[in-house]
Amino acid sequence: MIILGIESSCDETAAALVTGDRQVLAHRLLGQEAAHAPFGGVVPEIAARAHVEALEPLIVAALADAKLTLADVDAIAATAGPGLIGGVMVGLVTGKALAHAAGKPLIAVNHLEGHALSPRLSDPDLEFPYLLLLVSGGHCQLLLVEGVGAYRRLATTIDDAAGEAFDKTAKLLGLGFPGGPAVERAAALGNPKAVPLPRPLKGSAEPHFSFAGLKSAVARVVGQYSPEDLAASFQAAVVDCLIDRTTKALRTAHGATALVVAGGVAANTSVRGALQTLASAHGLRFVAPPLWLCTDNAAMIAWAGAERFAAGLTDPLDVAARPRWPLDPNAEAVRGAGV
Ligand code: ATP
Ligand code: MG
Ligand code: FE
Repeated sequence: MIILGIESSCDETAAALVTGDRQVLAHRLLGQEAAHAPFGGVVPEIAARAHVEALEPLIVAALADAKLTLADVDAIAATAGPGLIGGVMVGLVTGKALAHAAGKPLIAVNHLEGHALSPRLSDPDLEFPYLLLLVSGGHCQLLLVEGVGAYRRLATTIDDAAGEAFDKTAKLLGLGFPGGPAVERAAALGNPKAVPLPRPLKGSAEPHFSFAGLKSAVARVVGQYSPEDLAASFQAAVVDCLIDRTTKALRTAHGATALVVAGGVAANTSVRGALQTLASAHGLRFVAPPLWLCTDNAAMIAWAGAERFAAGLTDPLDVAARPRWPLDPNAEAVRGAGV
């Protein structure tokens, strides 16, 4: 089984070809950092136009890399949300057009399901259920992944996502955009104990997250410390919160076979290291995808498509784009939180 994956929900345009037995035959990606950098964040209209320009050549290039044509593909998987509606429309409509023209099934993939299942692409031994810390630019959630399409949300953020906090802190420190990797590089040169910063919600009964106060605390002391010390102290505070909240969730994640991290922030070495230690302390296996599979890409969308296709799940050509699309439809709203 060969799946073509298409991703365009934020500021990466990507196309990939992945097989049902976990071979990544091709993956192409074009970031838009330079286009958005002058604005210090992703501008939806610029993103959508950039996806229009980039997507078709990327799909053609990915097929050429894999020495395949559309006729060789079994199904087309495109991100249908959540994300910036303009970008999602570009990828989904392209996927629909290709599916229609080539007479192939369409699979509308939830971008978060792409992140959530990506560890199973890189690790063939990862079985359901697993406890997933999904930490990205727009989300910070703990999920019990029980199967394809079966996600139980145990916790979410009541304000900012962890990646968003990295991006905002990078902006405050003048480290540029995108912020996560820049903060990590600066943090490597600083003292994580130099700046006293809060650990929002640490020790609270529910395993939810909060990062807005941490970013505000950084804003109050910018200029009083070196950017390196501030970055290191900020990163240490984020790691502390992630570990405290994940420890809490582990108590209710009965039957989990592994502790798993995914999403852009999972590319952070300190985050990965602390989670590895936590997993060992609980006698659990720790699984994290390789760095390139943590941040947005189309291989994870193709893989989620492969998992859905294997389960018999395809979508009609009039399936709608969904700018908001929670993984767990039963999760209750949390004060101030996104889904
Ligand atoms: P979502 O998946 O929630 O829709 P997104 O697609 O924008 O959001 P991802 O591409 O998964 O998010 O992740 C991007 C985020 O990851 C950004 O906020 C970025 O700063 C953060 N990030 C990337 N690399 C690192 C790193 N090394 N350390 C910390 N954060 C990082
Ligand atoms: Mg991005
Ligand atoms: Fe993402």
